[in-house]
Amino acid sequence: MQLLEDRIARDGVVKSGNVLKVDSFLNHQIDIDLLDALGAEWARLFQDKPITKILTIEASGIGIACMAALHFDVPVVFAKKTQSLNLDGEMLCTKIDSFTHKKTFDVIVAKRFISPDDHILIIDDFLANGCALRGLIELVGQAGAVVEGLGVAVEKGFQGGGDDLRARGYRVESLAIIESMDAESGAICFRTA
Ligand code: 5GP
Repeated sequence: MQLLEDRIARDGVVKSGNVLKVDSFLNHQIDIDLLDALGAEWARLFQDKPITKILTIEASGIGIACMAALHFDVPVVFAKKTQSLNLDGEMLCTKIDSFTHKKTFDVIVAKRFISPDDHILIIDDFLANGCALRGLIELVGQAGAVVEGLGVAVEKGFQGGGDDLRARGYRVESLAIIESMDAESGAICFRTA
C-alpha cells in the first residue's frame, strides 16, 4: 500500500537488531487517518470473507484493530499478556515469544468472546518471525472458530514469518512488506508485487 510505504520511508527509523520504530504514527503517537486508510484497505481485501470478529494482541494491535473494525462493523477482541496464569478453565491460552521484549508471555482470551461460529480476522501491527500471529491462530483453533485471514500493517519479509504462514495456507495481507533494512544507512527496501 503506497500510503503506508511512503510513511514508513519518511518517518520510520531503523534500529539495530532488525527493529523498525514507527512510534510517531503507528504505535505510540497514532495517525488516525492513516489507520482509517489501513482499515479500509483490509475491508476491501477481505470483502469476500464473512468476518464476525477481529482478534489482536495488546497493546499496539488494539488501535489498529479498532479502526479496522469500524470498516467491518464487528467487535474487536484483544488477547492479554500475563505472567501469572491462573487457569480456571474459562480461558483460551497459549504462549508467545515476544520479539521486542525478548521474553515469553502467557496470552489469554476469555472463552466466551470467541465461539465456534466465529469467522476471525487476525490483525497486528508487525509480522516478524510470526510467533504472535501463530499464537493468535492457536487461540482461534482452541475456540473451534475459523481463521479467515491475517491482516498486518508492516511485515518484515526478511524474517520469514509471513512466508511461513502463507506456506501453511493462511491468507496474509500485509500492507507494507519490507525486504531489507539497514540500521547504519537507514535504508528501507520494500517488496514489490
Ligand atoms: P513476531 O511475533 O512476528 O516475531 O513479531 C511480531 C510482534 O513483535 C508484533 O506484535 C510487534 O509488536 C513486535 N515487533 C516485531 N518486530 C517489530 C519491529 O520491528 N518494530 C516494532 N515496533 N515492533 C515489532
